[in-house]
This record gives sequence, C-alpha cells and structure tokens, in this order.
Amino acid sequence: MLINLNSDNIFSCENYLDIASNIGAEIFTIGFSVEKRPIIALKKGTGKIKVLFVSRIHGNEPATTQAMLEFFNNYNSKDITIFGILLANPDGASLFEQLWLQNREPHWKNSFNNARLNAAGVDLNRDWFDLSQEETRAIRRFIFSIRPDFVIDHHEFYWSDKGYPPKQPIEDEDGFMATMTDAPFYGVHQFVKEISKKAMYTLIEKLENDFQWKIKVRHFAGKSDNNIEIPTVLGIYLALRGIPKLLVETWGVGCSTLLLEQRIKFHYLSMKYITNWIRSEESSFLNKPESLQLLRYNLKDADSRKIDLFLRKLGLHQIKFKKEKDSVIVNIPTTEVGFIDTIHNSIFERKRM
Ligand SMILES: [Zn+2]
Repeated sequence: MLINLNSDNIFSCENYLDIASNIGAEIFTIGFSVEKRPIIALKKGTGKIKVLFVSRIHGNEPATTQAMLEFFNNYNSKDITIFGILLANPDGASLFEQLWLQNREPHWKNSFNNARLNAAGVDLNRDWFDLSQEETRAIRRFIFSIRPDFVIDHHEFYWSDKGYPPKQPIEDEDGFMATMTDAPFYGVHQFVKEISKKAMYTLIEKLENDFQWKIKVRHFAGKSDNNIEIPTVLGIYLALRGIPKLLVETWGVGCSTLLLEQRIKFHYLSMKYITNWIRSEESSFLNKPESLQLLRYNLKDADSRKIDLFLRKLGLHQIKFKKEKDSVIVNIPTTEVGFIDTIHNSIFERKRM
C-alpha cells in the first residue's frame, strides 16, 4: 500500500496530493473549494472510452481516496482512459483529518458529521440540481468537459447504531457491508439504465467472490407514481444526463481504521473490475445513441416567474435553448430528454405537451 495503514498521516490531505503527483498520472486542478483548496483530477490512458471515478464527495468517507491512489498507481493500460476526482470535497476531507487525529476510536458516534459537508455546511451530494457551491459547479464543468462513458461515485456509509457494539461490522443488524446503486428508472434513457444495471451485477458477482461481505442492491426507481424526482444527488443527475453510473459504498463512516484495508480493497477492486468490464463491452459504449431530439415546451399562459426560473435552470446546466413567443425549444441528445423534462415538470408541475 502507498500509505502505511498504521501511520499518523494516513488521512493526510497533503500526503494524498504528494502521492498523487508521484504515480505517473496527469494532474489537473479543476476548481477550488469554499476554503480555496484545489480540487484535483487525475488521468491515465489515451483510449477513446473514458471512465471517471469520484471519491470523497463526503469528507468523512476516507477509504475511497486511498483506493483511487492505489488504482491509479497500478493502472498501466492505455486503451481505456481513466479519470479520478481524488477529493471532491477537500474542505470536508481536511476537517476529517483534523478530527480523526483528535479522536481515533472506531465508534458510530465518531462519524464527524461536519466533515461530511463542505466548509459552507452544504452536503455536496444534495446540490446537483441547484449547483449552489463552488465544488459542485467545478466538478460539473469538468465532467461535461470530458464527457465520461461511465462514472462510479464512491462512498462509505454509516455504522449503524443498532445492536452496538458489533464485534465485527458483519454482525451489524443491517447485515450488509457494502451497497451498490445503479441508475434510477424514471426519466432515464434505456441505454443508461441497461449499462448501469449490467455493470452493477457484474461487479457484485465478482466482489462477492472476493469478500464474505453481503452486498445490498439499492435502486432509486423514482417515486412510485412515476412522478418527478429532482436530481439533487450526483448519481441521479448523471443518469438523467445520459451517463451510465454506479454508486459503490462500503461500511465505514465512524469506523476509523477498523477494516480499513478491506474497505480500500473493495473500492480498489470496483475500479479495476469496472475498467476491465468496460474493455470487454467496448462495442456497447462505442455504439451509444448519439441522435438529437428537438423538444418544444409550450409555455402559453404559464406564470412569467416560472418561465424565468425554467430558462435560468437551463442556463445553469448549460443547456442551449431558443425562446419563441409561446414556447421554448431545446435540441438535445435523446439520452438527456429526461433531464430537461424533469426541470420543466418540476417547475410547471405538469408534463411536456
Ligand atoms: Zn457519501
């Protein structure tokens, strides 16, 4: 391992950046946090197909960053281009480092919840519809500049307080040690749904071979009445914008260094297996639907403040539109129709006519 798991600087952000600059990856600064810490992205490979890993959108989920460093260090292929956002929430990660140095006891009470958030106190994984924070805007800009073919968003989840103290987390009443979430059903293009689902079951099959851990499948189907699901979380946002995705999560918040090596390994192998799988599925990725669709939103008799809000949202998410007398026209990839419809339906509380 690049970082000795018994060392004091195991969660040091400075150390992460030092290591990142010595593993043969290209490094970009894609933006800055509220407290002006750089947000770093790594890149290796030159292939046409691109996969992006996002770590640490929540600062108190540390195994994900270390897994990324390990994976980039060991990746020597060129055929798939891999990108990684090492610390999506550098302020939260830095606060986590300080809090952990003061209290290293693994305990569900030591989840350091403020380190989940950015320095403005915002959960960056609830900000994707509004893009109110520096970090989410920078990451969004980066994602759409590279247009990845697949994204894995890496998380760790809370140590349940049920049945505490579990001697080993596997004895936790919840009984599972990892979760995976594919794309939601509602509004998401068939191509995105199918690729995301296939990727998820491929990963689960492999990881269940390597680990004794039970993996829970989560699936945000949207509301049962097929109503509007506002994409405030990255995974739903990406899926609605035509990008296949997975959320991979291990048990780990509040766990300090307990089972850290396995937690890192789980994320590391997820990155490795998904990259191998994408290589074997190259033709599906190269044949993704690219056609455009012209959408007309009839805004006759609509409230002018709502129309303004609609146009501002389209602008915020950099979707080009043409305003005509009683309607707004958008020409976008078919894979993103669900996203524009979601903005429209949520503001006007009705479906596109
Ligand atoms: Zn998280």
